[in-house]
Amino acid sequence: MKMQLRKGNRDLIKEINRSLVIEQVRSIGQISRTDLAKKTGLGLSTITNIVEGLIKERIIYEVGSGFSNGGRRPVFLKFNEEAGAVIGVKVEPKKVIFALTDLDIKIILKSEIPLDPEVSNEQLLKLIIREIEALKAHLRTEQHLYGIGIAISGLVDRSKNTLKYSPILNWENYDFSPLESYFKIPVFVDNDANVFTLAHMWSGKWKEYNHFIGVTFGVGTGAGIVVNKELYRGSFGGSGEFGHIVIQREGTLCYCGQRGCLEMYASDDYLIQETKNLVQLGLSEKFKSSESITIQDIYVAAQQGDKNVQQLLVKQGENLGIGLKSIVNLLNPEAIIIGGEGTKGMPHVGIGIKKEIAFNFFSKHEQKLNVHMSDLGDDVWLVGACALVLDDKFKAPIYQ
Ligand SMILES: [Zn+2]
Repeated sequence: MKMQLRKGNRDLIKEINRSLVIEQVRSIGQISRTDLAKKTGLGLSTITNIVEGLIKERIIYEVGSGFSNGGRRPVFLKFNEEAGAVIGVKVEPKKVIFALTDLDIKIILKSEIPLDPEVSNEQLLKLIIREIEALKAHLRTEQHLYGIGIAISGLVDRSKNTLKYSPILNWENYDFSPLESYFKIPVFVDNDANVFTLAHMWSGKWKEYNHFIGVTFGVGTGAGIVVNKELYRGSFGGSGEFGHIVIQREGTLCYCGQRGCLEMYASDDYLIQETKNLVQLGLSEKFKSSESITIQDIYVAAQQGDKNVQQLLVKQGENLGIGLKSIVNLLNPEAIIIGGEGTKGMPHVGIGIKKEIAFNFFSKHEQKLNVHMSDLGDDVWLVGACALVLDDKFKAPIYQ
């Protein structure tokens, strides 16, 4: 996917300045025209013009300060998060989750429909359309739906809004582009790890980072890479396949065709298989039989104090840490934000991760790498799916 810079002309300058103003009002919350001019470096007359247009579009509105010291009462500008709405969708193996949010990604409504894993592309689209129509009925007449964002696991071709292949869902070439022609609004599809990472660029405690890595693990393993406040997507959108960094030469054969992929040493399947091995060797205190051990059983055993199972979770963390260290050395991020179902194995997994990444190429530098757990809870995927829409709507319009 070639990103081409737009030609510089008056229209582009206007659009950039407009997005600068929206960004400032959004992030500061309440600001006067004078302060907006100072913050953006734009002239007061330019600010006045842009603000006038944005007030007409209802993207921002004026509020009085409530005080006056004799002179003119200062007027502040606020971002109107209720001017529009966004729908986020998360497709999982057994269900599809939906959220209707405002432009600040505050969830207004959430819903969920069960999913037959054998569902066809056509049936899936019908289900999604039916549910989105139901959510749309809750929009106020003046509330414009800006777009639909869809989070899904697997390899996504963003230019065609198609899921090329998902080992977790066992689907190939599921096309979501008919949603765009049906609803006549922009639709964006992206993989779970990118969506998770984007959520943290738009919401939560760590929005200020310019360079960070979002990492998710559980059934699969993935990463999203943020460089200069922008999600790095690679040549066709496939970046961040963190689970397929090779950490073991001549290691376990992965479904991708390589041997020794990190995912083979860090996913739920790895934990289940290794726990079964422990049980067969008589080394687990909690499990008596290696039959039908689930990932939830493993977390419970660790919480109940099964030392060998706890050690296994630490080992999983170390394996993740080895992979993370490679990304850190390559990209020199400010932070790593960790999430996904696998975090149920904390604190043991975290011990392993921290142990491995404590020493990296940059350890001697005074600026230390920050490691955080996601603060967005189970809604992180829906928040990120909605962020797909806003990221396109409000980003600096410098590319064609
Ligand atoms: Zn692989």
